[in-house]
Amino acid sequence: VIGWVFSRIKDNLFSLVLERGEALLKEKHEAETQRAEAMQAKSESEQQRRLALQQRLVAEQARADAEAQHQKALQANKQAEEARLAAEQAQRESEEARAQVEANDRQKTEFFQNMSHELRTPLTLILSPLNREADAQPDNDNLHVAQRNARRLLRLVNQLLDFQKLRAGKLELKLGVIEATEFARVTTACFVPSCEERGVSLTVTREGEPVGEEGEACFVRSEVDAIEKVVFNYLSNALKYTPRGGSIGLDLSETGGRTRISVTDTGPGIAEQDQDKLFQVFSQVDGSATREHEGTGLGLALVKQLAEAMNGEVGVQSAPGRGSTFWVELDAVSADAANTEGAQSLDEFKP
Ligand code: ADP
Repeated sequence: VIGWVFSRIKDNLFSLVLERGEALLKEKHEAETQRAEAMQAKSESEQQRRLALQQRLVAEQARADAEAQHQKALQANKQAEEARLAAEQAQRESEEARAQVEANDRQKTEFFQNMSHELRTPLTLILSPLNREADAQPDNDNLHVAQRNARRLLRLVNQLLDFQKLRAGKLELKLGVIEATEFARVTTACFVPSCEERGVSLTVTREGEPVGEEGEACFVRSEVDAIEKVVFNYLSNALKYTPRGGSIGLDLSETGGRTRISVTDTGPGIAEQDQDKLFQVFSQVDGSATREHEGTGLGLALVKQLAEAMNGEVGVQSAPGRGSTFWVELDAVSADAANTEGAQSLDEFKP
C-alpha cells in the first residue's frame, strides 16, 4: 500500500509538475507572443510616425515651393509694372520730344514765312526795272546775270512761301482738267534754250514714243500752277545735275486710272540710302558747304506737298552712275469727262 501510495503521490506530483511546467510554458509563450505583438505594434507605430513625419516634410516642402512661386510671381508682377512705367515714361518723353519738334517746326515755319514776305517786296522792286533794262540791253551780260539770279531768288522765295502755306493748310488748290501732252510740250519749251546752252538734249515721249506736234491728248486732274511747279522742279534739277552732252526726257504714261509724268536724266544718280530723304524739307544728298551744286533742299519737299494736295504721289528711281527718274502720278481723266468739264488753258505758260 505504501508503495502504491508513493507511486500515486509520485504520479500526482509528476503530473502536477508537468501541468505546472506546461502552464509555465504556455504563460511564457503567451508573454512572448504579447511581447512580439507589442513590438510589432511599436514598430508599426514607429513606421506611422515616420510616415507622418515624411508627409509633414513633403507638405512643408510644398508650402515652401508655393511660397517661392508666389514670391516669383510677385517679382514678375513687379518687373512687369516697372516695365509698364518705363514704357509710359518713354512714351511721355517721346511725346514731349515730338511736341518740341513741332513747336520748333512751327517757329521755323513762321520765321521763314515772315522772312519770305519781307524778301519778296524788295525783290520784285529790283526785278521790274532789271527786266526793263535787260530787255533794252540784250547784249549786256552783267545785266542778264543779275536778272537771272534775281529771278532765281524770287523763285526760291515763292517756293518758301508756297511751302509754308501748304504746310499751314493755307494754300488751297482748285483742281481741274489739264491736257498733259500739251502741258509737257509747253513746259519743256521753257527749258529748250537752257538745254541748248548746256549741250543737253531734251525730249518729250508718251509711253516711250516721241510726241509730235499733234500728240494724242491725255488728261489729268490737277492745278495748273501746282503741276507746273512740280515739273519745273524736276526739269530744273535734271538740268542742274546733267553734264554737258547728257540727255533729259519727259515721259507720260498711264496705268490703272493714273497718269505718270516722269523726268529722266543722265546725271550722277542717287544712292538708294539717300533716296528716302530726298522729298523731306531741306534735305540734300550733299549737304556740305563745299558741295558742287547750290540749292536749298526745298524744291522736292514742295513737289511732294503739291502733289499730295492734288491727290498725287511722287517718287524716284535712281542708281549711282545710272541717272535718275523723278515722277509724279496724278488721277487720269477720261476724254469724255474732259470734254464735259473743259480743260484749263495753258497759254500763260507758253514761253
Ligand atoms: P535743291 O536742288 O535746291 O538742293 P531739291 O529739293 O530740289 O533741292 O533737291 C534735293 C536734293 O536732291 C538735291 O540737293 C540733290 O542732292 C538731289 N537731287 C535732286 N534732283 C536730282 C537729280 N536729278 N539728280 C541727282 N540728284 C538730285
